Amino acid sequence: MTNNEDKLKKIISHSKEYGFVFQSSEIYDGLSAVYDYAQNGVELKKNIRNHWWKAMVQMNENIVGIDSAIFMHPTIWKASGHVDAFNDPMIDNKDSKKRYRADVLVEDYIAKIEGKINKEVAKAAKRFGEAFNKEEFLNTNPRVIANREKMKAISKRLYGSLENNNLDDVKALIEELGIACPVSGSKNWTEVKQFNLMFATQMGSTSEGANEIYLRPETAQGIFVNYLNVQKTGRMKIPFGIAQTGKAFRNEIVARQFIFRMREFEQMELQFFVRPGEEKKWYEYWKAERMKWHLSLGMNKEDYRFHDHEKLAHYANAATDIEFDFPMGFKELEGIHSRTDFDLKAHEEHTGKKLRYFDPELNESYVPYVVETSIGLDRMFLAIMSTAYNEEKLEDGSERVVLNLPPALAPYKAAILPLMKKDGLPEKAREIMAELQENFMCQYEEKDAIGKRYRRQDAIGTPFCITIDHDSLEDNMVTIRDRDTMKQERVAVADLRQIIDAKIRNKA
Ligand code: ATP
Repeated sequence: MTNNEDKLKKIISHSKEYGFVFQSSEIYDGLSAVYDYAQNGVELKKNIRNHWWKAMVQMNENIVGIDSAIFMHPTIWKASGHVDAFNDPMIDNKDSKKRYRADVLVEDYIAKIEGKINKEVAKAAKRFGEAFNKEEFLNTNPRVIANREKMKAISKRLYGSLENNNLDDVKALIEELGIACPVSGSKNWTEVKQFNLMFATQMGSTSEGANEIYLRPETAQGIFVNYLNVQKTGRMKIPFGIAQTGKAFRNEIVARQFIFRMREFEQMELQFFVRPGEEKKWYEYWKAERMKWHLSLGMNKEDYRFHDHEKLAHYANAATDIEFDFPMGFKELEGIHSRTDFDLKAHEEHTGKKLRYFDPELNESYVPYVVETSIGLDRMFLAIMSTAYNEEKLEDGSERVVLNLPPALAPYKAAILPLMKKDGLPEKAREIMAELQENFMCQYEEKDAIGKRYRRQDAIGTPFCITIDHDSLEDNMVTIRDRDTMKQERVAVADLRQIIDAKIRNKA
């Protein structure tokens, strides 16, 4: 087991043990790739959502939000291309009976080659010490050059074949590369087939000709079909944006890696409507803005990178992923797409209604172009958990597990802890609790020794522990302990609110 797999396992078990994320329907042995957020998880998730909403809607005069229904007219998904093309190529191993995404099998193979290159780089860096020039090494080392070319050739063939729907060639590629099933180790594969990811259900009573409808696979279409209503009623002027957070559903073929790939998940999306011809400028703008948002949370810069798409979806003229270094490696966290006028035009065609905007400055009507930013709330949750989760060795030789969550996102901002369960300390603590909980999520705890209570709060990421002792009854002062530094300070009860407030505002 590599360290990284180990880290993912630790995050999963910590999430369960401390009430962040549970497997859905656990007492029935679970439902694959569906998860429930528990008492602490729901707070963290809500804080991430609110933080996004604030940055997008509250801080931008020209962006408003909506909350559209999950059920939508089925023709919407025909217009958007999802009925015909929202497919993943799947392949089964005949021996293990396990199902895989054919493209992911090949991508994992490419990632292994990249792993080899990274090893060569690390070895060379060690050998050459300070004189090492990574760029030069990558461009001159024959083994690295050969491996890079191999990666390029495999990608080109994979994406070319997928684009042309040449599934036989995808299978041939898997066979030529000698890719084996990770479970059975065999290379005994079925044909590659397309699999539509939308969940369908019936609306209305079946006997009276019910309609087949879909659980939305993205929140974006709810924005497109409402854009003119919002523009008119909100008197919005281009450029303007509509934001939405909400559930989306995809019948993922391979659902693993915890909350990274779920069948029911939540998206936070912005569709930004611009003048045709100005979309590239706004695409660059949102690329920069979104990266700033991530880093403003105190996340590590080196855990982020852009992955610009070479192969573009049918609706896009530019696209990039913000990738994050999850415990299982760099993977997509957020997508930024210049979606052209594809969606609005398609809805015009399928409804026969005009979806044009009259631009008073240009004195003309047009279908706006759209720049989209789309981030998975659950993936952001996982990114934050994997950054925050730390095992520390302390000076006294003991260990602690601490979640160094950005204070603004922590489920609880302060824990109120009477040193003892007697002598009027709980009453004093309750008084402080009542005052603070008006403004912050606070937790009151009087059970167990104080050290044990500190550890429990560290494990759920509470930035402050406030301890009430006998002196507090006399001097109205308490001890406040900082989660990250573990430093303790004696402060006046009257100052607590301001101290906590300052910490929350500082980051995020
Ligand atoms: P992937 O390639 O990983 O399947 P995608 O490119 O299909 O993702 P988009 O359609 O661009 O994803 O969706 C936007 C965002 O929604 C993604 O960046 C991701 O954060 C999130 N997302 C997509 N699918 C899932 C899923 N199954 N579980 C959790 N989050 C998801």
